[in-house]
Amino acid sequence: MKLTVVGCSGSFPSAESACSSYLVEADGFRLLLDLGNGALGELQRHCGLYDLDAIFLSHLHADHCIDMCAYFVARYYRHDGGRCAPIPVHGPEGTEHRLTTAYADTPSASSMSEVFDFHTVKPSTFEIGPFTVHTERVRHPVEAYGIRIEHGGKSLTYSGDTGVTEALDELARDSDLFLCEAAFTHGKENIPDLHLNGREAGETAARAGVRRLVLTHIPPWTDPQVNLRDAREAFGGPVDLAAAGVTYEI
Ligand SMILES: [Zn+2]
Ligand SMILES: [Zn+2]
Repeated sequence: MKLTVVGCSGSFPSAESACSSYLVEADGFRLLLDLGNGALGELQRHCGLYDLDAIFLSHLHADHCIDMCAYFVARYYRHDGGRCAPIPVHGPEGTEHRLTTAYADTPSASSMSEVFDFHTVKPSTFEIGPFTVHTERVRHPVEAYGIRIEHGGKSLTYSGDTGVTEALDELARDSDLFLCEAAFTHGKENIPDLHLNGREAGETAARAGVRRLVLTHIPPWTDPQVNLRDAREAFGGPVDLAAAGVTYEI
């Protein structure tokens, strides 16, 4: 598997990065995890606009899904006059309604489904192209999922947005790469069931026994070096900060 960080800024875009979006490729199949603010532009640095095969939305906060409205325009009003065939979009209950109302206040009920084939995510195991994926509810103010992706004996787990939860420890168990949010700063914000801080991301990685930890979803107002230091104190394996454009071979 190849992972490309399309965007990794938490909550709102930074000068350096769009919001959450990660491209996972294997066997010529392209699965996109989240499409937050600004990520549709960045995505075009890494693949063609119409080269995606499936999309997974971890939850329906704007910083994870709002560029789906822009992507709808690109697929529905193609410059050649055609319309793109529906691409599978896996998201929480209500994804179609959320995106339709975000796009326009007088939405046409069916136009999104002409270019997006919506599938409701529940905690389960299923196939997306060549990948076996496991989804699990994580702790966040809205219905939110973490996802584990397996291919060729390797595994990648993405936390989505979450507070500390055993469900994430289990989902990430022995993962080759654990892409984990670290939006908060240890000792500063302490709001349960919202976000992890660097230390908690490191502790989760240690409990899960992952091989590599990549910290992501750090907002512009959070010092990434503090979170990196805190994560390294809690987890003995390699720890990186996600950065836009960086790729990992898994
Ligand atoms: Zn977020
Ligand atoms: Zn969120």
